[in-house]
Amino acid sequence: MNESQNKSYKISPWTAEFRDPVIERDYCRTVERDNARFLRVALVIWGTLLMVFVPLEWIALGNSTAFYVLFAIRLLNVTALLTLAFLLRARPHWVSWGWPVTIVTILGYLLFFAYMRYIPDSGPLGLAVLMLLLFSLYVFVPNRIPLNNLIAVVGISTVMASSIMAGLDAVGLLYMAILLIWPVGVGYFTALRISTGNRRAYHLLQQAEQSNSELQREIRRRQQLEKELKWQAQTDPLTGLFNRRQYELLFNQEMASARRNKTPLTLGLIDLDHFKAINDKYGHDLGDHVLCQVADILQQPLRDSDIIGRFGGEEFIIILPRTDVDQARVVAERMRLALSETIISHQGQTVVVSATFALAELTPEDKDINSVIRRADDALYEGKDSGRNCVVCVRAA
Ligand code: GH3
Ligand code: MG
Ligand code: MG
Repeated sequence: MNESQNKSYKISPWTAEFRDPVIERDYCRTVERDNARFLRVALVIWGTLLMVFVPLEWIALGNSTAFYVLFAIRLLNVTALLTLAFLLRARPHWVSWGWPVTIVTILGYLLFFAYMRYIPDSGPLGLAVLMLLLFSLYVFVPNRIPLNNLIAVVGISTVMASSIMAGLDAVGLLYMAILLIWPVGVGYFTALRISTGNRRAYHLLQQAEQSNSELQREIRRRQQLEKELKWQAQTDPLTGLFNRRQYELLFNQEMASARRNKTPLTLGLIDLDHFKAINDKYGHDLGDHVLCQVADILQQPLRDSDIIGRFGGEEFIIILPRTDVDQARVVAERMRLALSETIISHQGQTVVVSATFALAELTPEDKDINSVIRRADDALYEGKDSGRNCVVCVRAA
């Protein structure tokens, strides 16, 4: 994480929100559903608690105007709380917005106002409930802290105003203010701590996710590189066929398998006829193109288990497992025909190439690929001497 990234995750010490509005919005989105669920539960409990007091009021006030006014205000409050709880189901973003729960909470102060008006001696109890509510508001209602501050200010002002109207003296007012500011202060700092902690955890999670995805990218890049390196180590870059190192390795494996299973193994050398003349006449570019085309044509009749590589300049090598020299001749003939029947064209020029094939079978005396190649190479000379474009087989002595 560099300095600029650190900066953008700065958290305001007063609101406990990210200073960067985009980051704050993203954070809100991730916690929105959980907070909405939590708030809905809080609203329903709050509504239920409000109704619990109704029987007590009936006992205290009886069939009076005061009871019905208080009951109506309670009903209004509970309806607002439950409606908000219901609406939040489909609108979890209202939690991040904050105003709906703020308005519903401020509406709740009507009840305190009515209490002061109709039951003036409910002061101490009302004060205690209000202290508890103010603290709970910060800790249990997942609302934006600045809006909770607004709710607290409106609440304290409402209660103080109604107390003044009820004739409370200056000392009483001071006493009340201190009692009310105390839960607000504690609630505010508790909310700041919770909110800051949550955002720090979110920041750490973002960092972890970022380094995780960087790591994944790096792993993918290295895997790709490894694949490329492996391909380069095994392949002739022009034709895409196996290079010497790879076909020798594969030959050794096939030789071991052939000896173990007592199956034949045939090696073939393929040398293009008069390729120098093609190069001289049409240029090196066309020569290269021809080599690639020939590589494709030679691969056609091969099985998946057969091996083909580039032996040298215009020479190719085939290794045919579980194939004796007579069966290999059939394959080689097919290749020879395919080659001589294919017109290769490149940048408006066309050529037809032929090749001479030499086949030699693995014998018990062979120690490695070299002795087999030597026999095939001798046969290749024979083929060249006898007019090219043919298949020559080395028969076991
Ligand atoms: P032969 O029928 O006797 O085999 O005649 P040839 O001309 O094919 O044989 P020679 O060995 O005299 O020439 C091989 C030519 O292959 C020489 C070189 O110009 C060409 N050659 C070798 N490697 C490449 C390559 O990578 N690209 C191209 N375009 N030509 C190559
Ligand atoms: Mg050659
Ligand atoms: Mg040649």
